[in-house]
Amino acid sequence: MGEPRRKSVAIIGTGLSGLVTAYLLHHDRQKRFDVKLFEKGEELSFCAESLRVQKPEDSSSAQSVWADVPMRAFAGGFYQNLIRLYDYLGVPYQSQDFIFTFTQLDSRRISDCNDVSSAAPSMTHASNFHRIPPIPRTADIFFWLLEALYALFFNLWFTLCVYYVAPYEETSSSQSETFRDYIKRTYLPRYYVDNYLLPLMASVSTCSHEELLDFPASDVLEYKRRTHRQPHYVVKNGVRAAQDRLAQDLNVLLKACVQNVVPGSNGIALHYIDAAGEHKVENFDLVVLAVSPDVVSAVFEPLRETLRRIPTTTVQTVAHNDMSTLPRVSAEFRNKNLGATDQMIHFRSSKGTTEAIHEQEGRSLIVTTNPITPIKPSRIMRSAKFTRVLRSPESRRIVNEIFADRATSGCKKPTVQWHNGDDGVFIAGGWCWDGMVLLEGCVVSAMRVASSLDVEIPWMSR
Ligand SMILES: Cc1cc2nc3c(=O)[nH]c(=O)nc-3n(C[C@H](O)[C@H](O)[C@H](O)COP(=O)(O)OP(=O)(O)OC[C@H]3O[C@@H](n4cnc5c(N)ncnc54)[C@H](O)[C@@H]3O)c2cc1C
Repeated sequence: MGEPRRKSVAIIGTGLSGLVTAYLLHHDRQKRFDVKLFEKGEELSFCAESLRVQKPEDSSSAQSVWADVPMRAFAGGFYQNLIRLYDYLGVPYQSQDFIFTFTQLDSRRISDCNDVSSAAPSMTHASNFHRIPPIPRTADIFFWLLEALYALFFNLWFTLCVYYVAPYEETSSSQSETFRDYIKRTYLPRYYVDNYLLPLMASVSTCSHEELLDFPASDVLEYKRRTHRQPHYVVKNGVRAAQDRLAQDLNVLLKACVQNVVPGSNGIALHYIDAAGEHKVENFDLVVLAVSPDVVSAVFEPLRETLRRIPTTTVQTVAHNDMSTLPRVSAEFRNKNLGATDQMIHFRSSKGTTEAIHEQEGRSLIVTTNPITPIKPSRIMRSAKFTRVLRSPESRRIVNEIFADRATSGCKKPTVQWHNGDDGVFIAGGWCWDGMVLLEGCVVSAMRVASSLDVEIPWMSR
């Protein structure tokens, strides 16, 4: 008797979730799967926007490095599976300390870059309190210390709430509590929330303050609890090392835009437009949609209406070297106060939006996310837009129902009829778990696809 026929698997999307799913199925010990990746972009997307930048002149090592755009940072505690994956692949990473500055902008200033950069930060903070944060020379020390005591007090208050005041979970008559309601319930003052808590957390979720306030409180609290006092990490020389290792030997079709995924009696028909602009159809035994929910909704009829209810937004990142966008104190801190490996991230907030300006490689690269400050066009190296999946109590319920283990989830009748894996179609992505939409969700959801197909996850058995 011959070997059983291998199953053909199409994986749509080459972000981290598509790559990890493809890696796991391709390396199945029993070699049961033929994997083909489809990506509408011109290259694998996990680091499609990364840049090669020159290291500062005083640096002793290599002349140029890959810089991640957007940021691909992670932290102990929250990113257990991502860390296991990187350890297994031998992807080198290092701890990274940050100095944050917080500035509130007067909205009238925004058209004038000069005024914006001269706006003085109201506070500085060192990640995990790894050092005494620098104080601008021009600051009035008395008011600065008063502000620091205020921010510290409510930071402590919020931290205690995270540990001792649980968010309300969904019941038969009410949805899970939003971050907005949790903030009210725990008496966090508006000034602290607008000036410190929302700018910091909105930079993690890269969305507006209003959008973040609509998140389930559990997302923010769980993130804060699990990353509390944990080191931040970045992959040395960029996540390209991870992408290269994951994608090795994989069959990838680039510039292939999937239009429709239709389960039928001969398998699952995948309709796509190829690089030459031609409409093609291929049949597969299994399909994994490793794309954002708006794309799943557009290409997969059984989830069309359901996933429309998951909010998304667009985030812009601009990689540039326009130093005039940095706060004036940046040079002062850099020259006098910072450790050699500290990186600065400046949060500037205006009208419920926070831009994050991240200085890298001795300021030879600045990456601004959600820009507010005007950036000189001649200084822009690359500008990109990303779909960001948002969270809400309703979207949380939808996601949890799609991925619930139906054998153990009790007798509660789901409101979403389609379940992950039905008709041989699976979903993976940073949004496909019960938490903040970050890289950990990509790995967890890819591992879930593998487990459903009885594929061993090598980094779990070491
Ligand atoms: C500005 C920014 C900063 C971030 N910083 C961090 C951070 O520091 N740490 C962290 O953990 N997370 C961070 N995140 C979140 C994290 O990057 C994402 O959660 C994660 O990359 C999502 O990966 P994914 O594989 O689910 O989807 P994606 O990376 O979105 O990949 C989906 C892929 O599918 C392709 N595609 C879409 N439609 C089609 C189609 N019809 N046919 C074929 N291909 C298609 C797309 O081109 C894309 O390549 C950040 C996100 C942003 C936007």
